[in-house]
Amino acid sequence: MIIVQHPYISVVVPVHNEQEVLEELYTRLTSSLDQLGKTYEIILTNDGSTDRSAIILQQLHARRPNQIRVIEFNGNFGQHMAIMAGFERVRGEIIITMDADLQNPPEEIGKLVAAMEAGHDVVNTYRQERQDSWWRLAVSKWHNNIRAWMMPKLKMRDEGCMLRAYRRHIVDLMASTGESTTFIPALALTYASNPTEVGVQHAERTAGTSSYNFYQLIRYNFDLVTGFSVFPLQVFTMIGVLVSLCSFAFVIFLFLRRLIIGPEVQGVFTLFAIMFFLIGIVLFGLGIVGEYVGRIYQEVRKRPRFVVRHVLEEKDDNLQEFPLKTRELL
Ligand code: UDP
Ligand code: MG
Repeated sequence: MIIVQHPYISVVVPVHNEQEVLEELYTRLTSSLDQLGKTYEIILTNDGSTDRSAIILQQLHARRPNQIRVIEFNGNFGQHMAIMAGFERVRGEIIITMDADLQNPPEEIGKLVAAMEAGHDVVNTYRQERQDSWWRLAVSKWHNNIRAWMMPKLKMRDEGCMLRAYRRHIVDLMASTGESTTFIPALALTYASNPTEVGVQHAERTAGTSSYNFYQLIRYNFDLVTGFSVFPLQVFTMIGVLVSLCSFAFVIFLFLRRLIIGPEVQGVFTLFAIMFFLIGIVLFGLGIVGEYVGRIYQEVRKRPRFVVRHVLEEKDDNLQEFPLKTRELL
């Protein structure tokens, strides 16, 4: 078997309790990559699975030690960190990310590679005929609209689909940011110079369960917004200015009224209603400021964003080094 130091394609897959699908993932992913006729590697990160995923991953590595690399995390650090750990180790020129649960068919990878070869540095995807529960679709739609409004620069039709392709320099940039909470597709777009989008099929989860519940999806949206924009803070400044102007006009009005008509004693409950409304706005604003402070706190603690227990891979010195020229031709 030819051992390749620098494969053309690196596929990065985060794995969290996916024992039912790993075997099928292996078969479908390797056969669709084999069909492409390019050199490739697959990096699977086991993100603290509590089922048999770790053992299955070991077996997969044993089957193709040169092509399948396994990163074993020391706990659960989340899907994006699992991908990030893969990014830190990729050897390929075109990097593909995908979910382990086969909701993104590996057979679509050819489409992404073709788009990369047409000169794009980031290839995003949107799900054609998305198969998910109605509330997930509703949350996604709501989320996409808000994101488009707040962050027009992040042009993505569908940010929930993890089947994506990146050029190596984009991946290296992302891996070097060191941020502990980040949303990889959005981060990639901030570095991309020529991104594009292609439609891909989307299948229902056939086995296992989604690792995300409703609360986590909401948290995730907050992370996305606070991680890439200060728009919520600016909105609050604007609301503050508006409320101050209105109150100022109201004070003038009450002052004149008092001079002309006399003191007012009625309307206590109206006052309460206005007060409660304003207190609500202030609390909401505090919450938003808190989100940003929380992010700063997470970054300044400088804790490692993930801990790798071990990596199963062929060590570099066992591998045949290709001269740079060959690497470019691959
Ligand atoms: N995943 C992970 N760590 C987590 C949660 C999920 O590595 O804490 C992986 C999971 O194994 C899958 C991908 O991330 O490969 C997407 O997860 P899931 O299918 O649960 O999310 P959904 O498709 O429902 O958004
Ligand atoms: Mg899924």
